[in-house]
Amino acid sequence: MASDAKPSDIQAVVALVESAGGEAFVSRGISRVIIGLVGDVEQFARLNIRGMRGVRDVTRISAGYKLVSREHHPARSAVRVGGVPIGPDTVTLIAGPCAVETPDQTLAAARMAQRAGAVLLRGGAFKPRTSPYAFQGLGERGLRILADVRAETGLPFVTEVLDADQVDMVAQYADMLQVGARNMQNFALLQALGAVGKPVLLKRGLSATIEEWLMAAEYIAQRGNLDVVLCERGIRTFETATRNTLDISAVPVAQSLSHLPVIVDPSHSGGRRDLVLPLSRAAVVAGADGLVVDVHPEPSVALCDGPQALIADDLAVLARDLRDLTGFMGRQLPEPATVPVG
Ligand code: PEP
Ligand code: MN
Repeated sequence: MASDAKPSDIQAVVALVESAGGEAFVSRGISRVIIGLVGDVEQFARLNIRGMRGVRDVTRISAGYKLVSREHHPARSAVRVGGVPIGPDTVTLIAGPCAVETPDQTLAAARMAQRAGAVLLRGGAFKPRTSPYAFQGLGERGLRILADVRAETGLPFVTEVLDADQVDMVAQYADMLQVGARNMQNFALLQALGAVGKPVLLKRGLSATIEEWLMAAEYIAQRGNLDVVLCERGIRTFETATRNTLDISAVPVAQSLSHLPVIVDPSHSGGRRDLVLPLSRAAVVAGADGLVVDVHPEPSVALCDGPQALIADDLAVLARDLRDLTGFMGRQLPEPATVPVG
């Protein structure tokens, strides 16, 4: 739809498509509305949708993913999280603890993150652990801690949601909802996120192809939410020296196929503190729209992923490198959130 399309224009398109026996999925982004049509294409061609008020263009798309494709939207999108952009003009640093453990630990990690230039906080309250005996997170209590730390620091936060039934509850606290790698093809969860009015961080599955990852994003977009950010976090290969293999080429490949922003998680990719800085540099120079990095005030006692958490000294180097490399890439570090969060 054109940027000045009125709600009644959108409604008219939906009504016409439905009257012709088709389905119309309205997806809203910051600056545009896209209506995805599902049904008999020949029938749609006879409707003269292109001539309707508020319609900018009608495109027939052959790829399995349509709304998230660049075929549909040549310009790359930016997604805003609590006022902070993640998109083609910026390199956005998201940092925080792997898991929320205590109020003090979360606040300390957030302060460390903020000093390094992070404009968004990460932290897991619901943890998808490989072992059922590992720390599973604080649950809703963890979300309350994150909300308190947001109030204290002004950092909007992203946190993982594990299940479709939890989406509304987590969305009441979080500024952005994360789909973990192990849940990338939890289709009920993806569909529920399509109906939530918050941006989504969609991690690539451990063994998912780029096409499968984009199809997963399409599930969210098709149900009405275009504010999806893709996150490459390493994939499973034959290599055992690192926890996962960072697929650096996934950044430009996904960006060439999809208009959605693509960020990199160097922490879960390598699984080792000493790899986080080199992988971060590689990601930014490969064109990543941001980074999501684990930090911890005391990694040796972390309840989750301590070996990959950055400490203050590493963060100072990361901050310096990000300034340099962001300039080198002709981008900017985004301003911190100024809008009231909560
Ligand atoms: C995380 O970011 O906390 C996490 C569990 O990551 P992933 O889903 O990529 O393993
Ligand atoms: Mn982790």
